[in-house]
Amino acid sequence: MADVILDGKAVAAVVRGQVKTRVDALRARGVAPGLAVVLVGDDPASAVYVRSKTKDAREVGIDAREARLPADATTQAVLEVVNRFALDSTVHGILVQMPTPPQVDARAVIAAIPAAKDVDGFTFEQAGRMFRGEPALLPCTPAGIMRLLAEAGVDPAGLNAVVVGRSLLVGKPVANLLLAANATVTICHSKTRDLPAVVAAADIVVAAMGRLEFIKGAWIKPGAAVMDVGINRDAAGKLRGDVEYDAAVQRARVITPVPGGVGPMTRAYLLHNTVEACEALLDKRAPGTRLER
Ligand code: NAP
Repeated sequence: MADVILDGKAVAAVVRGQVKTRVDALRARGVAPGLAVVLVGDDPASAVYVRSKTKDAREVGIDAREARLPADATTQAVLEVVNRFALDSTVHGILVQMPTPPQVDARAVIAAIPAAKDVDGFTFEQAGRMFRGEPALLPCTPAGIMRLLAEAGVDPAGLNAVVVGRSLLVGKPVANLLLAANATVTICHSKTRDLPAVVAAADIVVAAMGRLEFIKGAWIKPGAAVMDVGINRDAAGKLRGDVEYDAAVQRARVITPVPGGVGPMTRAYLLHNTVEACEALLDKRAPGTRLER
């Protein structure tokens, strides 16, 4: 049985508490950090995500506002909203909920977000800064994973880390952060040969595939740290990860449950990035996500 079942809700509450202290200090300086969330269309899951992001923000004292556009909005219409927030000095963070409907050019929309307000870490500038190892606003899920590893006392230096999934959102950035933390990193994807053998050599497994319990418990190296990013529903409608949890928890030393593991951390790091963007603007420095405990 794992020594550490990482309680993402509890760690996220700590992160939110740290954010709240920083928000209070900013407000004492006469500045209210502001987050603008843009939602295009009426996808119910996206609407839930946006509502929870603005609710979280308000709870720590961040001024949050939502802009909603119809499902048939043009790229130009979305750009107008983003450009308005880009010029608004009371907005320190801009997030466009992805995916946008197919007629919207998501690349153009992201490119319109000023790097200093890119609290999702998606712009070329923030992604490039991360790649170069410079202070950057990090994508929220990878930042949350690195914080959870630190929380469990797992130092990636010298360890074999296997990241399953190579998305721009999760797989590639978390692999980059693990490399920066001196792990020896392997990135797997749908063309990887013999995934069980690659996973079996991992001291750290990050599962970001979006495939229900695809990674079997028997593949996990005894004593490994398993970070499960996947969000899937089983036949009974229950939320489950990409890892076969009940079997993996018997072999791993550290593991994140689904739900209640990585997910809450993603939400918390959006708040962290917003307050960081606000402080950096005031202090005239480049913003950078802090991962220390
Ligand atoms: P994505 O863009 O769909 O990428 C999935 C990745 O998994 C791809 O790189 C794909 O390989 C790889 N893959 C698929 N089948 C595979 C297989 N059989 N063997 C090896 N690799 C395989 O997904 P994502 O946006 O990164 O999200 C992944 C999961 O995390 C989803 O369930 C998503 O809902 C969840 N998620 C959770 C959070 C959170 O806060 N907890 C945040 C973001 C995402 P190819 O590149 O070869 O296609």
